[in-house]
Amino acid sequence: MDALRSKPFDPRKAAFWEDKEPVPFLFFARVMDMISNESGRLVMTEILCNAFRTVIATTPQDLLPVVYLSANKIAPAHDGIELGIGDASIIKALADAFGRKEDQIKSQMKALGDLGLVAKASRSTQRLMFKHPPLTCAKVLETFRSIAKESGKDSQEKKRSRMKSLLVAATDCEPQYLVRLLQAKLRVGLAEATVLVALAQAAVYAEQPPVSSSMLPGRLEEAAEIMKQTYSVLPIFEKIVPILLTDGISKLPEVCAFTVGVPVGPMLAKPTKGVSEILDKFQNTVFTCEYKYDGERAQIHYFEDGRVEVYSRNAERNTGKFPDVTSSISGYKKPEVSSFVMDCEIVAYDKESNKILPFQVLSTRARKGVILSDIKVKVLIFAFDLLYLNGRVLLQEQLVRRRELLYQSFIEKPGEFQFATATNTKELEEIQSFLNDAINHSCEGLIVKTLEKDATYEPAKRSNNWLKLKKDYMDTIGDSLDLVPIGAFHGRGKRVGVYGAFLLACYDPDKEEYQSICKIGTGFTEAVLEERSNTLRKHVIDTPRPYYRYGETLAVDVWFDPVEVWEVKAADLSISPVHKAAYGELETSKGISLRFPRLLRMREDKKPEQATSSDQVVDLYRAQKINHRSTKNEDDSS
Ligand code: ATP
Repeated sequence: MDALRSKPFDPRKAAFWEDKEPVPFLFFARVMDMISNESGRLVMTEILCNAFRTVIATTPQDLLPVVYLSANKIAPAHDGIELGIGDASIIKALADAFGRKEDQIKSQMKALGDLGLVAKASRSTQRLMFKHPPLTCAKVLETFRSIAKESGKDSQEKKRSRMKSLLVAATDCEPQYLVRLLQAKLRVGLAEATVLVALAQAAVYAEQPPVSSSMLPGRLEEAAEIMKQTYSVLPIFEKIVPILLTDGISKLPEVCAFTVGVPVGPMLAKPTKGVSEILDKFQNTVFTCEYKYDGERAQIHYFEDGRVEVYSRNAERNTGKFPDVTSSISGYKKPEVSSFVMDCEIVAYDKESNKILPFQVLSTRARKGVILSDIKVKVLIFAFDLLYLNGRVLLQEQLVRRRELLYQSFIEKPGEFQFATATNTKELEEIQSFLNDAINHSCEGLIVKTLEKDATYEPAKRSNNWLKLKKDYMDTIGDSLDLVPIGAFHGRGKRVGVYGAFLLACYDPDKEEYQSICKIGTGFTEAVLEERSNTLRKHVIDTPRPYYRYGETLAVDVWFDPVEVWEVKAADLSISPVHKAAYGELETSKGISLRFPRLLRMREDKKPEQATSSDQVVDLYRAQKINHRSTKNEDDSS
């Protein structure tokens, strides 16, 4: 495998199989092992790029499964296909495959802290009776997909037997990575962006005639950008990989464009603390302020044949939740509109009193299978963007144009379908009073967007061109944080029998780890505290996960698996010697912590890995410093 690091790199030398033979899973497992020993992003990218080059040179038809495994995915996110297995199931499969007792496995798991390592150790202590044919990457992916498809009665058993069939055939370090893939956590520090960059670079190296060495650095950079851009609008490796192999990377933007039926990750906003910060950031820029409605983000796709799909903030199919939206949406479009993709916020609405209802009311609606005639909570759609119209992709258009087309193509119906209320004023007082109007209309605040320049739609990006201003947070840190409880402290006094406080963490997607950020014991009603304690008690683990970072002095009583996300408000952020959020980013050997955190609510729409990231924590800390400074200056001048 050292061949993967040799310079100049010869793709064929790294292969230990013949051309056109299926790529062994062992190759993938060893590549992951190599990557896990590295911490630098550039080296990781280089190793993965060389692995992809090896596959392209020998067995190009296996590039797709190898890419899928590297991205730790089995299907595009919007297909909603999941393996649907937990640690308990994997432990059973391991026991079956390696002839061990479940208890033995559990206690070894305590000692090693990682089920993948237990799997590896189990294989190495077991004598092999039969020699199974070697696993291939294609076979592993295919089996994962079959596991995901199992449903109904006996499905857990069938899933386990498929897992077992893979485990008994695994050798060397294969069991370790099989198990981690099954847990959907490779934990080698490989972020999705790295996989995309490595794939783009491998495609450049494979170009014929070869790119000259003087052109290479520029070409690699350009290719990475093309790949990221393409994937953000069409996150489907089945479409991307074949084009790379036949036509090369330059063809991607033309062939793999945004299309109806494939949601893009929504564009997101950065938090701000006040109107003056907005004017500061957007000076010399034309911008618009819109009401920030407190409901649920929805991307509505309308196909030429009249079909409708609704996708969530996580680009997941959410159509079953909104039969009222799917049945009514065509009634708001003008006759000349044949297909569209619209970005909007769906809010709960009381038609009697003509009032927007709080977010919590909407969240009482079932997530799928809602029947039109059973609907009690009515909704109102607030449209604020148009991404596609009559076969034309609008992502690259400026917001001013997209909004014009939105206004031209649809007709408002009060109480059912409206455009987000907006103003284009630049005056501080007017924005301030617009903000007050928004609050009086049951909105959370404003979203302020660039209009004419740097105003394209940036899928799946927290953009500098969209700023959010939440009234509630103006006296705190500008935004709430979405954090994951990873541990707790036993309650005392009035709180005996429940947890008294919890340890919360943010998530670092690059390092794939949860970093502690604060203890929290405020903001809970008795009922909520009991409910959370009861739920989390089911997820207690004996030792903290190896991917938890926390100060040893915290002396947590129990640890949990990362299973839920809580929205938390705090007074401010400070540099901490104990907590590990964004560890070392601002000061060596120190992290960031929250002061006076209080619980707001559960975020049922977010997965733990979508918690506030450590980069966002750094941004909030920096913004707070700037704001402190500007308030101080204002104070000084008065
Ligand atoms: P984020 O989506 O930024 O991670 P979040 O899910 O906690 O954070 P908020 O901080 O409340 O959401 O703010 C962003 C959300 O506001 C958007 O994702 C969207 O659902 C909602 N929203 C409401 N009105 C608008 C609007 N006019 N333009 C854009 N988004 C809006």
